[in-house]
Amino acid sequence: MTGPAEFKPATVDLIWERDRGRCAMCGRWLVRMHRGETWSVHHREDRGMGGVKRARKGQVQPRAYLALAANGVLLCGTGTTGCHGDVTDEKVPERLGFSVSRIGIRRPVDVPLKHYLHGWVRLDNDGSYAPADEPDEEEMAA
Ligand SMILES: [Zn+2]
Repeated sequence: MTGPAEFKPATVDLIWERDRGRCAMCGRWLVRMHRGETWSVHHREDRGMGGVKRARKGQVQPRAYLALAANGVLLCGTGTTGCHGDVTDEKVPERLGFSVSRIGIRRPVDVPLKHYLHGWVRLDNDGSYAPADEPDEEEMAA
């Protein structure tokens, strides 16, 4: 997996530190060198087609923030197993913030996430996070 929306190693470092080497959903301890086997960095807002292919001249550039820290969380498993598989299969309620709609007006930095270690937080692109209010049903409907 390569391309403009893929997380750079320095960004993976930020995410790893922020999430303390644990699955952000279930808290399972991860082994750093086993990325792609027992854990992965989940894109909260999906890359979609545009994010996977390298943009050619004249094509719409993928959204740069897709590769930044607020859009990435450590999850156990891969796209088909563990917590990452559960998110991909939409078994995880949207209100928990692990999935951010591509067509919504809110971007990953705006959407609170229920983090295993940190509780309800907003993630920032510098690898930091700040406490956030748990979203209520009205917010979710907006
Ligand atoms: Zn997990």
